[in-house]
Amino acid sequence: MSGDTGSTEQPKIFYTKVPQTEAHDTLLLEGKVKSVYQIADESDKVYIHFHDKVTAGNGRRVDFPEGKGKTCCLISALLFEMLEGRGLRTHYIDCPSLDTLLCKKLTIIPVEVIVRNIAAGSIVKNTTITEGINISPPIVEYFLKDDEKDDPLLTHDRVRLMGIDPEPMKEVAIEVNTHLQMLFTLMGIDLVDFKLEFGYDAHGDLFLADELSPDNMRLWKKGTKERFDKDLFRKDQGDIVEAYQYILQQLRQFA
Ligand code: 5GP
Repeated sequence: MSGDTGSTEQPKIFYTKVPQTEAHDTLLLEGKVKSVYQIADESDKVYIHFHDKVTAGNGRRVDFPEGKGKTCCLISALLFEMLEGRGLRTHYIDCPSLDTLLCKKLTIIPVEVIVRNIAAGSIVKNTTITEGINISPPIVEYFLKDDEKDDPLLTHDRVRLMGIDPEPMKEVAIEVNTHLQMLFTLMGIDLVDFKLEFGYDAHGDLFLADELSPDNMRLWKKGTKERFDKDLFRKDQGDIVEAYQYILQQLRQFA
């Protein structure tokens, strides 16, 4: 398998910047597995640095798998580039180094938008729905982005009462789903579900944000429940870096 770290193969992304944040870049936000830096002299851009770190249970379980940050970063870059190429607005600008994205600075909307094509995870845990059933047409759900409250499920009306219009996010989420599903189908992978985050730029325009990687999507080998995603860590069922690198290798062929 050609991984991201040892391989001489180049991803279809452009390397245009020095792969380091500068000393005068300031840390804006320390997330669970990523850090966001304000770029000195460029107030509308940030660097997002991906760490070799994985968490589950809202940060209660942690591990530091080598190569994980780079793999998630490169997968995100490829998927954001693919979506940009299909006319979607994302925060992605460039991938200046293997573990860092250059992105538009956004005001992040505190709502996680989930698209489900196959039942798994919280929809199975919290309803009578059986794992593995097809959800057709796909559904879109909203969760509050708030670790202290354990990211509770929101209703469409609650999102509106929070002063956020869920419809534009829903439309983009369905479009993203269509493009990702087509791509993963070519790879022999079922896109079970995924999480998106959105933000507004200084003009109030909506952009897709955060990352797109097996950390925030469920990917099963077509027609099976063989996992290539963070559930391997959540359920202690295998090596996530090996699985994520398989996805990266496939994306390099098909994206
Ligand atoms: P569920 O609601 O079933 O737990 O998650 C649905 C999908 O969204 C899964 O692919 C899961 O990985 C992703 N997801 C939901 N919440 C989070 C989160 O807080 N962080 C990450 N990385 N992914 C999430």
